[in-house]
Order: sequence, then structure tokens, then C-alpha cells
Amino acid sequence: MNAPESVEIIKQHLIDPEICIRCNTCEETCPIDAITHDERNYVVKADVCNGCMACIAPCPTGAIDNWRHVLKAEAYGIDEQLTWDELPAQNTTAAAFPEPPGAAAEAEADDEIVASDMVRGASVPPWSAAKPYVNLYTHQSPTTATVVGNYRLTDASVESDIHHIVLDFGAMPFPVLEGQSIGILPPGTSADGKPHHARQYSIASPRDGERPRYNNVSLTVKRVTHDHGGNPTDGVCSNYLCNLKKGDTVTVIGPFGTTFLMPNHPNSHLLMICTGTGSAPMRAMTEYRRRRRLKGATGKLMLFFGARTKEELPYFGPLTNLPKDFIDTNLAFSRTAEMPKRYVQDAMRERAGDLAQLLRDDNTYLYVCGLKGMEDGVLQALQEIAGADGLDWAELWARLKREGRLHFETY
Ligand code: NAP
Repeated sequence: MNAPESVEIIKQHLIDPEICIRCNTCEETCPIDAITHDERNYVVKADVCNGCMACIAPCPTGAIDNWRHVLKAEAYGIDEQLTWDELPAQNTTAAAFPEPPGAAAEAEADDEIVASDMVRGASVPPWSAAKPYVNLYTHQSPTTATVVGNYRLTDASVESDIHHIVLDFGAMPFPVLEGQSIGILPPGTSADGKPHHARQYSIASPRDGERPRYNNVSLTVKRVTHDHGGNPTDGVCSNYLCNLKKGDTVTVIGPFGTTFLMPNHPNSHLLMICTGTGSAPMRAMTEYRRRRRLKGATGKLMLFFGARTKEELPYFGPLTNLPKDFIDTNLAFSRTAEMPKRYVQDAMRERAGDLAQLLRDDNTYLYVCGLKGMEDGVLQALQEIAGADGLDWAELWARLKREGRLHFETY
């Protein structure tokens, strides 16, 4: 029998095309550009990936966390991966070779250090969060929901068209938690003739339903009319959703998300920072706490919410009607005529004393959702606020991540 000493085995990192919702989070997170994609799939370059694990926690579906033992010389190339509809089975020849003793443990220890240094938020949920269900419905086996409501949230006078859409699952189980998201499969095909991939939306309603004890969820959807470069374009899924009528059915996959979840212990404080439609999970958490408040939740809620103008801020009316002793709401408008531009981080600095007090409390949980660009500004503001109050931000930031108390969901 030939000895296998000269045969190099690698643990190849792969992305499950069946579950992946093509949200681009992994590609954005990868510090060494080991991930790429085409219209069909997201794939990992075996010769570049160093297994640092930075992409694992941010992936909302878990599609990223797939590994195969393969002979290095036979690693799956990206051209091949780009054609897949599902992952290949474990190659039994390669799997039969043991890893060198201690290699797995060493790799795991390394992963922990490297990943926690590179990821901005926590890779674990709050200790008291409920256990989420994920991937109950996939591209191969989606479910359907019926539209039971579709309302414009933004003032008719403004261009920004944001909708509150309520989907009912009828008798089909679709358990969700605040902070989770779902995928919508828009009908039709893309330019290459293939079905559109799913688009991900955060759930804007609490776990017990948009309407309590109904099997329904709500979404906050902005009609996309321009691409990132500012050129006119019609967003495929957002336009489809915003145009839906009561009684229409939509194809849904998910739910997704295992870490951006709220704590369940009643004295936990929620510090929520969002822009625009990033308010969806904050609405879900706030509404859950509002319902639960009646049952004895005592923790504080503090919200920083940024939008271009008051008229473009989704949920402006309901939000400003919430009692002040229930939620401490701070709005920041960036494009109000004759007013200076104001972002959420400016509003945070104005409330530095109260924020520092919350940061000192081990029961405080932070959630940041909205534009990718706000991440730097928010972290910078937190660092300044902590530093001015004598807190060691580097130590606190690491602890917030370790304890599942700092969460980002930005696009
Ligand atoms: P938007 O209207 O473009 O912007 C909202 C506010 O954020 C504006 O006041 C904007 O100011 C401000 N802003 C811009 N850059 C900022 C920065 N670096 N720091 C702080 N504030 C900044 O927002 P939107 O179109 O609603 O987009 C919200 C984002 O949330 C999208 O990227 C969306 O994908 C994401 N999201 C959506 C969901 C969902 O379920 N729908 C869930 C999670 C995340 P300016 O006047 O400078 O533009």
C-alpha cells in the first residue's frame, strides 16, 4: 500500500449555493479578497483563502460555513464552483487521511484570535437570546406568503418611496425572531436567463407577529430607483415588492440570522443606531419590548435614527408617539432645508454622558443597522464617548464582541 506522506490534504472552504442569498457580505468582509462571484454563485479561491474565519460570523445564512477535505492538487477551482447548484459530497479518499495531530485545535485557536480582531461586531448572540430557526426554506424548497398589507411610509411629497409590507404565512410554520431576515425570490429571470437570486430583508415585526398571535411578518422596503453610482435603474425586488397588492403571493426563503438577536433578560438595555430602512430590526425589537413591557421588562431603550428629512424617516409618526419613559429617541436629519447636516453619530456625541453610562452597564446591547458608511462614524463616536468617560475603548470593544453585545447589519 502506498504511504500518503507526500499527499497534501487541505480543508477547502466552500459556499453552499443552495442557501447563499448573494448578499455580498462575505466578499466585503474577506480581508484578502479570497471570495468572488458572478451572476450565479459566490465562491472561494482555494489558493488565496487562509481560513482566517473573518467571513463566517457576518454571513446571515450560514452558507459560508462549509468545508471539504480535498487533495490540494484536486481542490475545486472557482470556474467549477461557479457552475454548482449544490455542494459536492465529501470526497471520501481525502477525508480518509487524518489531519496532523493537533492541527484542528491549533487552527481553531488561531481562527478565534484572527477573526475577533477583524470582525467589527460580535459573532455570538446575547447570552439570553432565544434560539433562532434558520434556513427552514431554501432556493430549492421555498415557501409562499400572501400579502395582507402594503403601505407607503414616507410622505407623498418626497421622492423616497419606503413601504411597510405585511406577509402572512397562513398555516405554514415560519418562526422568526427580531433581528432575523428573510429572502424574497422575485419572479422572472435576469439578463442571463437564470431565475433572479433572493434579496434579503430584515423583519420589522416582533416574533409573535406584526399582528400579535398571527403567523405574519412585516418588511421595510425602499423602492430602488438609482444604482450606487447614482444612475437611474429600477431595483428588481424592491419595485416588485413595493408594487404588490393585497392577496398577491410571494416566494420566500429563510429565516436567516443567528447573532443579531435581542437579549431576553428583562433588565437588558437596547442601544439602537440606524439609518433609513435599517430601522426595520429596531422597530421589531422596540415593538417586542413594548408588548413585553406590560409583562415587566425594565431595561432602557435608546434609539439614534438618521434620515434625510423628517418626511423621509420611516415610522416617523408612530415613533414620535411612543412614551418618553419607554424609549429615548434621538433623530438626526441630514438634508433639512436651512439646517446643518446631522448624522446619527452627531446626535450620539450630543448625548455622550447618557451613552457613557449605558456603555458602563454590562446589560447594555448595541445594534447598528443601515448604510455601510455609518459603521466607521458610529465606532469613532463610541470610541470618543468611552474615552472621554475614562473607559478603555479597546478593552470594552473586545468585551462587547465577546459577550454578544455589539451587532452590525449594514449594506
Ligand atoms: P438613506 O436614505 O440613503 O440614508 C439615511 C441617512 O443616513 C441619511 O440621512 C444619510 O445622509 C445618512 N448617511 C449617509 N452616510 C452616512 C454615514 N457615513 N454615517 C451616518 N449617516 C450617513 O438610507 P436608505 O436608502 O434608507 O438605506 C438604508 C440602508 O439600510 C441601505 O443600505 C439598506 O440596504 C440597509 N438595510 C436595509 C434593511 C431592510 O430590511 N430594508 C435592513 C438592513 C439594512 P445623506 O444626506 O448624506 O445621504
